[in-house]
Amino acid sequence: MSNTAKTLTPELVKKLWLAFILLVLLMGTSYVAITGYFANKHNQETTQRLNADVANHVIAEKFKDASPFLADGSVNKPLFGDLMHDMMAVNQGIEVYLLDDTGEILYSVVLDHSDSAPAKRVSLAPIHAFITDRGEKFVLGDDPRNTAEQKIFSAAPYSVDGRNGFVYIILAGKKFQQVSSTLMGQYFAKLGLGAFLLTMLFSTLIGVLAIWFLTKNLRAITGTVRRFQEGDLTARVENPEDSDISILANSFNAMADSIVGNMDKMQSVDSLRRELIANVSHDLRTPLAILKGYIETLQMKRDTLSENERQKYLQITHDNVDKLSKLINQLFEYSKLEAEQVAPVKEPFSITELSHDLIAKFRVLAEHKNIALQLDNPEANCMVHADVSLVERALQNLIENAIKYTEPNGKVTLSLKKEGANVEINITDTGTGIPVNEQPFIFDRYKQVNISTEKQGSGLGLAIVKKIMELHDTTITVLSKPKEGSSFIFNLPAYQVS
Ligand code: ADP
Repeated sequence: MSNTAKTLTPELVKKLWLAFILLVLLMGTSYVAITGYFANKHNQETTQRLNADVANHVIAEKFKDASPFLADGSVNKPLFGDLMHDMMAVNQGIEVYLLDDTGEILYSVVLDHSDSAPAKRVSLAPIHAFITDRGEKFVLGDDPRNTAEQKIFSAAPYSVDGRNGFVYIILAGKKFQQVSSTLMGQYFAKLGLGAFLLTMLFSTLIGVLAIWFLTKNLRAITGTVRRFQEGDLTARVENPEDSDISILANSFNAMADSIVGNMDKMQSVDSLRRELIANVSHDLRTPLAILKGYIETLQMKRDTLSENERQKYLQITHDNVDKLSKLINQLFEYSKLEAEQVAPVKEPFSITELSHDLIAKFRVLAEHKNIALQLDNPEANCMVHADVSLVERALQNLIENAIKYTEPNGKVTLSLKKEGANVEINITDTGTGIPVNEQPFIFDRYKQVNISTEKQGSGLGLAIVKKIMELHDTTITVLSKPKEGSSFIFNLPAYQVS
């Protein structure tokens, strides 16, 4: 556990935590702000509903014995002084205004006169709405002492001495506001602190769990990657499909497989290369040593050698030069095929015609060994779709081997047979055959059976054939019995002449 925990970079965990804390703070602040807003609204609505009748009450109580206006039409200030007295005793948070029927403020009773310029009038629309709904609905009206704000109020119409207007009472007056904001500040501090602590506690718990779950699979993958990096090439993410990040798990497993595959390939290519160099140097050294020996003999014993001996030595020299050049050509050809530098140019051609040409070419060699070389072709003309020069090369190697490994008076047959969409090509000889246990390896480079025999070649002929088959997406099969003979069989796609 402690080991896997270390496998996640602290940066990622730090970022996750940072994001989480930001989220918690944002949530906490929003929670406090929303609660505050609704608590304030609730408080205002309650206050307005509770005090909806205050204005009516003022009219009923104060205006029943005395008019709010004096005989000269001015406001009855002593009456309102009396009202102020009551307010000081009962509710310091309210402010009372006497309005005419246009909303103009005729007189105001406020306890705190610190405002520089109170408004001269208020809008009548909220007052009408309030009176119509009899204080049942939450309505905000103009605050003459703070025109930027709307306040809860109570209002009631009066009609005295032929004068109409309204008693307009701001319920959350300046004093109310001061007390309220002090209390609200404290309330918010407590609410904020409580909410913050609770949110922090729960979100830390949820956060720890969430981050643990979120990073569980990531930790497993990082652990595996690290093991792989430290040299454990077998390290793979277990059950990648179960992971939340299965794409990553699968990609890592696939990447690890391909890295290991490539490493194996490189190792085998490397060992093959070393084998090739060792074999090539050996193969080149032998004919070169023979050549050197005979040339030295010819030079040193120039005067003592008979004409016959000289001819024999020259013939041996010539044969070895042939062998060397053949070997070099085969090596060159093979390395080009192996390096995948040869791209087959596939085209339709007559395999029958090609077989006739090859039989004619090898006839002399076969006759030389008294071997019957024949073409068994019941079809008039077999067409295939393949690279003509590569197929010719493969057939050459196979016929050459068949003649090479067949004793005099034997037979080598090249037969062509249409098999569905393919043409089957079969080179059969009555030669030495190949032991069953050797058969799987004869297509490998330098694999030679009967090494001791004089017929030894380069060991590259069949390896080249195999590469040519691979380029044609086909395979070659060998059927062979020692002392009875061998058959090499392969298919090429037939070309249908329309
Ligand atoms: P080489 O140059 O030695 O012939 P090849 O790659 O052509 O190399 O063949 C590999 C080995 O397979 C040969 O050494 C030989 O032992 C065996 N082989 C190939 N063709 C035949 C055949 N037609 N009959 C018997 N043995 C064969």
